[in-house]
Amino acid sequence: MDYDVIIIGAGPGGIFAAYELTKNDPDLKVAVFDAGHSLENRKCPIDGDKIKSCINCKPCSIMSGFGGAGAFSDGKYNITNDFGGSLHEHIGKQKAIELMNYVDDINMTHGGEGTKMYSTAGTYLKKLCLQNKLNLLDAKVRHLGTDKNYVVLQNLYNILKNKVSFYFDTSVIDVKALEDGFSVITDTKEYSCKKCIISVGRSGSKWMETLCKSLKIPIKSNRVDIGVRVELPAEIFSNLTDELYESKIVYRTEKFEDSVRTFCMNPNGIVVHENTNGIITVNGHSYEDAALKTKNTNFALLVSKHFSEPFKDSTGYAESIARLSNMLGGGVIVQRFGDLIRGRRSTEKRIEEGVVSPTLSATPGDLSLVLPKRILDGIIEMIYALDNVAPGTANDDTLLYGVEVKFYNMEVSVDDNLETKIKGLYVIGDGSGITHSLSHASASGIFVARQITDAK
Ligand SMILES: Cc1cc2nc3c(=O)[nH]c(=O)nc-3n(C[C@H](O)[C@H](O)[C@H](O)COP(=O)(O)OP(=O)(O)OC[C@H]3O[C@@H](n4cnc5c(N)ncnc54)[C@H](O)[C@@H]3O)c2cc1C
Repeated sequence: MDYDVIIIGAGPGGIFAAYELTKNDPDLKVAVFDAGHSLENRKCPIDGDKIKSCINCKPCSIMSGFGGAGAFSDGKYNITNDFGGSLHEHIGKQKAIELMNYVDDINMTHGGEGTKMYSTAGTYLKKLCLQNKLNLLDAKVRHLGTDKNYVVLQNLYNILKNKVSFYFDTSVIDVKALEDGFSVITDTKEYSCKKCIISVGRSGSKWMETLCKSLKIPIKSNRVDIGVRVELPAEIFSNLTDELYESKIVYRTEKFEDSVRTFCMNPNGIVVHENTNGIITVNGHSYEDAALKTKNTNFALLVSKHFSEPFKDSTGYAESIARLSNMLGGGVIVQRFGDLIRGRRSTEKRIEEGVVSPTLSATPGDLSLVLPKRILDGIIEMIYALDNVAPGTANDDTLLYGVEVKFYNMEVSVDDNLETKIKGLYVIGDGSGITHSLSHASASGIFVARQITDAK
């Protein structure tokens, strides 16, 4: 065997698995393969000047490489079982929280010290939300910020590079089960290992699905969330963001009784492009460094769609909607809330005249030509509901970027050890469909690493 353990994917799931494996058993031979670049070589070419929008780099430096999709994220580590994944359904609520706190301890001792932990415990905002038909979910959130998150990743890499063999720019094409172990086939060479941890995230979703089919591991269709990213002056949301930093608020629409929720809130942040398998959608993040803060806050408003028989391709459905916005806008579309309500497209001039300066260069357009009515109606209803707790949210100049999509991976069938029916083959992180966040993905890596070292 070339290695005791091969980890596929160097996102948070893979990194924390490697960290815990080598900490618990320094003699273990561990390799990590990632299709993307090493951390220092990850650079998105969009500079807002010569290159204004996504040029479909392969691999995408935002989604791939050391640090995974989380590398340039806002570094919000939510410690909660209420959202961010369903890890607790496999390992239990207490264990999940314990591991998320353990991940936080590691972050704090590797460059994250001094950052703030926010909490919803005891806040008056809970009552204010309930009085306005909004449900504020309970959580603690550590905000590392994009800059500190990067420092933590650099520090973790500097420790791990002496203990683990890293193979960057190396795509894993196939994994084959051997009599006692696995063969991991990359685009250049084949390697063998006793145990294999797959942690390929969202960017590896299609590959994961193909692999499960070839290894006959059951998968089931998951949900998809579709919506917009809202950008407004930071003052409007400051009563929520100053106290909680990120608030996860759920609203049940009056018209259709659909759930609309806030997601990924970035006080004084920026709106960015996201490229998933060539489809350009929108996302956001913010820096911890005061010098890099903007005057705007952004957050997503998402509507969850679960489909019933016979339709199975929820990802395909959301991709089609995102493609429509890419077709009409050449990428992401931006619209003033006032223009949306008046049934007209936004123009460069109207946006320029508004009080919100967009932090992302996007095409002014009409989101009602892209988003299905039911989804758009839900988003509009929620904007008016949020206006009651953060007055000004429903102002004409509030910007909506579309579309934001949260693609959830197919859920891979694993047992409560996160092991597939093939012994020694584990699937963790967002690629498993079980986690959807930095903290849950990282905790799943720690959990599986301990399963492996404890069993030795
Ligand atoms: C812009 C942005 C902001 C975000 N902000 C937050 C936030 O503030 N808080 C939060 O909780 N979550 C956030 N997220 C989500 C978070 O980044 C993910 O939940 C998390 O990174 C999942 O970790 P993971 O290890 O499971 O997968 P990933 O981080 O996606 O890593 C998977 C890795 O696997 C590699 N890979 C895929 N296929 C292969 C293959 N076949 N061979 C080799 N390598 C492969 C990829 O290159 C990638 O590096 C954000 C995401 C984005 C894009």
